[in-house]
Order: sequence, then C-alpha cells, then structure tokens
Amino acid sequence: MAAATLVVSLIMSGLTFWAVNTIQQDARMNDTRFGRDLGLLLASNVAPLIAEDNLTEVARFSHRFYSSTSSVRYMIYADEAGQIFFGIPFSESEVQNSLTIQRWIELPEDYAKNSEVPMVRQHLTPDGEVTDVFVPLMQEGKYLGVLAIGINPNPTVVASSNLTRDVTIAVFISIWVMVILGAVFNALMITKPIQELLRGVKNIATGNFKQRIDLPLKGELGELIFSFNEMAERLERYEEQNIEELTAEKAKLETLVSTIADGAVLIDTNFDVVLVNPTARRIFSWEGTDVVGENVLHHLPSAVTMELTRSLYQIAAGQTSAEREREGEEFRITLNEPTPRTVRILLTSVLDQYRESVKGIAMTVQDITREVELNEAKSQFISNVSHELRTPLFNIKSFIETLHEYGEDLSETERREFLETANRETDRLTRLVNDVLDLSRLESCRLYHFEPVDIVQPVEQTLRTYQLNARDKGIELAQDIAPDLPPVLGHYDLLLQVFANLVGNSLKFTEPGGRVMIRAYLLESDPHHHETAQVRVEISDTGIGIDAEDQEAIFDRFFRVENRVHTLEGTGLGLSIVRNIIQKHHSRVHLVSEVGVGTTFWFDLDVFKEKKTPVNQPLKRDSSPSTEATSATVSVP
Ligand code: ADP
Repeated sequence: MAAATLVVSLIMSGLTFWAVNTIQQDARMNDTRFGRDLGLLLASNVAPLIAEDNLTEVARFSHRFYSSTSSVRYMIYADEAGQIFFGIPFSESEVQNSLTIQRWIELPEDYAKNSEVPMVRQHLTPDGEVTDVFVPLMQEGKYLGVLAIGINPNPTVVASSNLTRDVTIAVFISIWVMVILGAVFNALMITKPIQELLRGVKNIATGNFKQRIDLPLKGELGELIFSFNEMAERLERYEEQNIEELTAEKAKLETLVSTIADGAVLIDTNFDVVLVNPTARRIFSWEGTDVVGENVLHHLPSAVTMELTRSLYQIAAGQTSAEREREGEEFRITLNEPTPRTVRILLTSVLDQYRESVKGIAMTVQDITREVELNEAKSQFISNVSHELRTPLFNIKSFIETLHEYGEDLSETERREFLETANRETDRLTRLVNDVLDLSRLESCRLYHFEPVDIVQPVEQTLRTYQLNARDKGIELAQDIAPDLPPVLGHYDLLLQVFANLVGNSLKFTEPGGRVMIRAYLLESDPHHHETAQVRVEISDTGIGIDAEDQEAIFDRFFRVENRVHTLEGTGLGLSIVRNIIQKHHSRVHLVSEVGVGTTFWFDLDVFKEKKTPVNQPLKRDSSPSTEATSATVSVP
C-alpha cells in the first residue's frame, strides 16, 4: 500500500511540476516578448534625445515611464563605451557620483552592438526572477550606447505558479501524512487485535484457558474479541469443573483403593507401577521404597516374579483368551519373607474404553495366610474330633464288649473299673459334642435373657468342680472376690461356662506347683465415661504363657497353639466360646501373657441396675450346669 501510494504520489507530483514548469516557460516567453517590445519602444523614444545629448529630457521621460509601470525594475543607460550615465532607481547623486566612481555596464558576451534586435535574458535575483533586456540605442545608423531594462515577471503568473507548486507540495505531504496515519491506524486498530487474537487462539489450542484479550475495541473486531473472551471463560469454567470432578473421582477411587483390605497394584504395559495401595505395600514389604514408576518385576518377591512373569507378558501382549480376560488369572503363592504367608494374586487386564487394547494390568493381592491357616486348623480339628470321638468310642465299645462277653469271669472290682472307664470316656465324648453344640448355638443369632448374677456363685461352683483336678495336678486353685460385690447383669450358665473354660485351660497349661487364681472387683467408675459401674473379672495362671503372635488367633475357632506342637488334648473351641459369651454380655475378653511366666484373661461386666431389668431378682445358684438350663430365661429370635 505504501509503495502504491509512493508511486501514485510521485506521478501526481511529477505531472503537477511538469504543468507548473510549462506555465513558467510560457510566462518567461511572454516576459521576453514583452521586454523586447518595451525595450524597443523605449529605445526608439529615447535615442533622438540622447543624440541631442538632452539628458534632462531623457531622465524626465525615463522617470515618467518608470513610475507609470510596476513591471520595470530598473533602467540603465550607458554610452557607446559602456559607461553608465543614467540609471533608475539610482539617485541623481549616485549618477553624479558615478561620474567620479566610473561605473561601467557589464554586457553579456553575445551582445551585438550593430544589431537592431535587442538581447533578452533572464536571471535570478534574491527578489525573484528578472528579465534583462539590452537594447542598442541607434540614431540614423549610429550606435549611441545601450539601454538595459530589468523587467519584473508577470506577478499573477508568478503567484499562480507558486500557488500551484505550494499546493502540489501540500498535496504530496498530505498524501504521505495520510499514508503514515493510515498505517499507524491499521497497526493499532487491526493488526494489533488480530495478532492478539492469533496469540490467544494459539494459547487456547495449547490448553491455556486462562487466556483473555484486553483491547477496548468497538465494532466487529470488538465483538469478535468479546466472543473470544466469552469462549475462553466458558472453556476455563468447563475445565475447572472437569478437573474438580476428575479430582473428586480420583480421590474417591484412591480412597477406595487405599482402604480395601486387599492389596492392589496397577501397572502399565511396560510393567511400571502406576498405583499401589498400602495393603500391597505391606504384603510385598514395599514400605519405605517408592516403587511407583519402577518395573514391578524388579520389586516383586522372587517367588511371585517366577510365577507371574509369563502371564504378565501374555496379558500385556493381549494374548489371553476372552474368558481368562474376563475372570482374570489366579495364582496362589507362598512367600517366605519376611514371615511365611500365602497370597492369592489375581491378574486382570485393564482395557481401553473400546475394550480393544490392553492399557495396563491390575494386580489384586489377597493375604490368605489366615484363611489357609484356618482351613488347616479346621482339617486338623476335624481329624482331632474324629480322633477324639473314635478313641472314647473304641474304649467304650471294647470295655462293654469285654463286660458283655466275659463279665462272669471278671471280679467285682474289675467290672467296676471297666464301667468307670466307660463312663469317663462317655464324659469326654459328651464334652466334645457339647463344645461343638455350644459354639454353634452361640454363633446362631439366639438372644439370651440377662438377669442379675452374683459373681461369687459361678466362681465358687467352678472352684468346686475343678478343685479335685487341681489338687491332682498339684496346682493351687484359689479365688479373691471383693466383698460386697454388686450383682452383675448376665447369664448364669454362660458365665459358668466362661469360668469353666478359662480355669480348665489354666489348669491344662500350668505345671505342677503353679497357681490359678480367680479375681473379681468393682472398677472405679468414672461418672463421665461409664454410665454403669463395672466389675472386672480376672483368671490368671502361672502357666506356659502364650506367644504374642498367637494371642489374637487363640480366640479363633479350631485354633490351638499345640496344633503345631501336638501336646495337650483339646478341641480348640474353648476360647471361641468364651469370646462369644463375653460378646453377648456386650464386653470383650482381653489377655495379658508372657511365655514361661503366665497368662491372665480378663473381662468387665456391667453392674446390674434396677431399672434395666426390673422383673428379675438376683438368683441363688448352686446346682449343677445341666439343671441350670431349665431356670435360664431364654428368648429365641
Ligand atoms: P482348647 O480346647 O484346645 O484348650 P481353647 O480355645 O480353649 O482350646 O484354647 C486355644 C489355645 O489357646 C489352646 O490350645 C492353647 O494353646 C492356648 N491357651 C488357652 N488358654 C491358655 C493358658 N491359660 N495358657 C496357655 N495357653 C493357653
């Protein structure tokens, strides 16, 4: 645009200057013609006077002529030798002086004296252009001198040509000013907003939705910028919302993954860990090491790596069957470090949204050590029960057979002994069957009716039952019940069973010379924390103690420490029954134990409050457990 403007303006200016020049040349030609005519006219009038040497008349005539026209700038008369003898506007004195100073006219080189034709030339003076006319003064063929007249150019022509020139320059300058202004305007009003828009669009394209354009413009560009800003704002809001939702979803998922009991490890198709939850860290002993971003095969226990590598490669390559893909692949692996444990690992491929390509592999890890242990304990228990059932049954059968077949041949003592043995074996059978029945009854949702129980009574009954046994084993069995203990809210038969099981265990696991003690005392009740006062019951012994790692497990069904050591007989149900019963009393059994020092089992029972069970009175009990059952109030769900 600038180049076009330049060309156009140059052409226009050129044309104008050419026109001005033509006008000026015309004017000069006019001036020349006018000068020559004027010179000739003046010369023809003055020549006779000069010939007569009538200088006064020459001066007078010249003055008149000079003052009658503004076209003549000067008039100079010189004699044939070229000496000036008169000039206007030079003063008289100057002419006089000129006589002394001897002024000479300087004639142009091509001036011909003998020609009748005047010589005309133009020359520039500080006061503008002057047309010099040199006219030879001739009288009857005699050369008298020269008349030089300076003629001012035609003022209208000068003025008009000057005006034209000035206008052209003004037009030229104004065109350029316009061009420059236009360019600046363009840069400010169009180029800048468009550049800004372009930058904004690029930023948006790279995902920077915070981009805004701040240009106070009106019109279409202003509207465009407004719409752009609106779009950016909407995108930003949308993004924020999306991010919020995603973060919330992610947090939800992460919480879920971190709180599930199973271990979860997510790896990508290069087997680099993407996510791992605390359970998995614990199972694989990854606590303290940052496995995220590392190849899982470098960190898994070697037993696991050995089992999984092949399948992992297959899944990552998408080479698994559809069924396997759906259900995942399951492994059971025994780890030896840090403690022996069994884990079940499930590998599932993570597919993309179209379920076409594998994006990663989800590894679910379950610690099934307990399950395995419990299963083993159960099998052990079943074989124990079978064994324990078979032994007394076999004994009973053989004794009764012997009595039946050879009864007459046996002495009275022998027969009694046989019967006693059979009876004892029947008791053992009953105990076993009772334990199993008790537990299954406790584990069903049956509701028991609680009543005030004076804790001294079941304790004393237990002592009576086990005193003989203790004395046989050489163990001291004693009680220490706080005097005036208030009755507790409980179930007499169940509590009796708790005491029987705990004391039975204590006697079983205590060496001769040891001591088994039952204590009960009122707990200092804190009115802020306990609504009801509580009685604490402790059964302690000086027996073999329980290893810390077994202390949780012994309450499980079928769990027996000696399953591993195979020493003392038992069903492994006693403590399960105890825990169940105490739970029914809305309390928990605790234990403190040290191997080789002894064990104390303790639990708290609520003191009976009148308003809670208003109907029942404290019951006095000292009959055997079998007859107790009839008086216990039992509610069945
Ligand atoms: P069991 O009928 O075999 O005694 P329990 O459930 O009563 O079954 O006890 C589970 C295991 O807890 C026992 O096998 C024993 O190893 C351990 N145990 C229970 N009480 C004691 C105790 N007072 N001292 C040492 N070990 C005990």
